[in-house]
Amino acid sequence: MSGGEQTSTEEQIRREQILRGWRAVRARIAAACADAGRDPAEVTLVAVSKTFPATDIRVAVALGINDLGENRDQEARVKAAELADLDVRWHFVGRLQRNKAASVARYAAVVHSLDRPDLIDALARGADRAGRQVRALVQVSLDPVDLGAGTGRPGRGGAAPADVPALADRIAAAASLRFGGVMAVAPLGADPVAAFAVLADVSARLRANHPSAATISAGMSADLEAAIACGATLVRVGTAVFGSRPPMLLG
Ligand SMILES: *Cc1c(COP(=O)(O)O)cnc(C)c1O
Repeated sequence: MSGGEQTSTEEQIRREQILRGWRAVRARIAAACADAGRDPAEVTLVAVSKTFPATDIRVAVALGINDLGENRDQEARVKAAELADLDVRWHFVGRLQRNKAASVARYAAVVHSLDRPDLIDALARGADRAGRQVRALVQVSLDPVDLGAGTGRPGRGGAAPADVPALADRIAAAASLRFGGVMAVAPLGADPVAAFAVLADVSARLRANHPSAATISAGMSADLEAAIACGATLVRVGTAVFGSRPPMLLG
């Protein structure tokens, strides 16, 4: 038996798994939209492919999945280069380090995790140098304030709601960036609906000054229904599409 046949069987199995996951997630989105009286066409599904190999992404794209999410530049830039022949919109959803911003600006269509002025400036410079326009979202912290910055806790990032308008204005003022809206991760161990309602409120206030910045990026495998109930226009789903990830060395 040739190695080629072996590979094609494995690919077929993987294709079935990803297709099944994708269909199940689409069904969950449709049900959540029906419950909320919303049109499923309002909700973009980004498949978060972090830790999964480029071969899985080829399978996903062949199934019509073109929005892919990654959370580490070291991994994402290699995949983006390897898959440059494909029609992929890369979403950078992880915490961004300033010294990685120029690299991310070369492949990302959307950066979800801007929460500091210096990151915005670094991404804007990188996009400018790359001759690209990058859509940029402000990540909002929904953690209780006592768990916020300065506690030494690693945290999942995000600006305090009060700091979001100035960050939005800074993005909107950068020629190489387009301000797209807001993103958040639900706090651990708290009611996601209450947290996502805060995000919806932050988004509504911002749109008074930035009417086209309508993206609300919220909801993952465990809580996408709560996010859609609160108006999410984009969900970021990893494990429910691709399967469970091996334990990660880095958070
Ligand atoms: C990994 C990740 C996701 C996807 O999480 P799942 O629980 O696998 O669906 C979404 N958003 C961010 C910021 C992530 O890092």
